[in-house]
Amino acid sequence: MIWKLSKNSLKNRTGIDHKLIEINELALTISPIDFGIPKYGGLRTDKEQYKLFIDGGSKCDGYNKKSYHQTGKALDFYAYVNGHASWEEHHLTTVAAAHLQAASILGYKLEWGGFWKNFRDFPHLQLKD
Ligand SMILES: [Zn+2]
Repeated sequence: MIWKLSKNSLKNRTGIDHKLIEINELALTISPIDFGIPKYGGLRTDKEQYKLFIDGGSKCDGYNKKSYHQTGKALDFYAYVNGHASWEEHHLTTVAAAHLQAASILGYKLEWGGFWKNFRDFPHLQLKD
């Protein structure tokens, strides 16, 4: 199955690092589960990052602690199952695995937030320095 991102997902992905776009595109051909990119899931302004921090959606305030999203080096996703967005761990893990596989094929270093110890950020991917 080859999935296709919706117009909104494509819009939300705009402006991120080309490596992440390549990984994301290849993952569409690998993932057994469809997925999308949420609003603020790609490139974020400092203001957007700060608002997410205030709302509890991020550990980075965007000023003292910067997010990879502010430099276009991070991408968030959700799974799309039975016509609905899903944030269930097992769905997100499946989609993340497709991205990790895609990154490996392309020779890019990718980090998945689901591996983090303190705050497991299942829908988050970022390029490694
Ligand atoms: Zn993220």
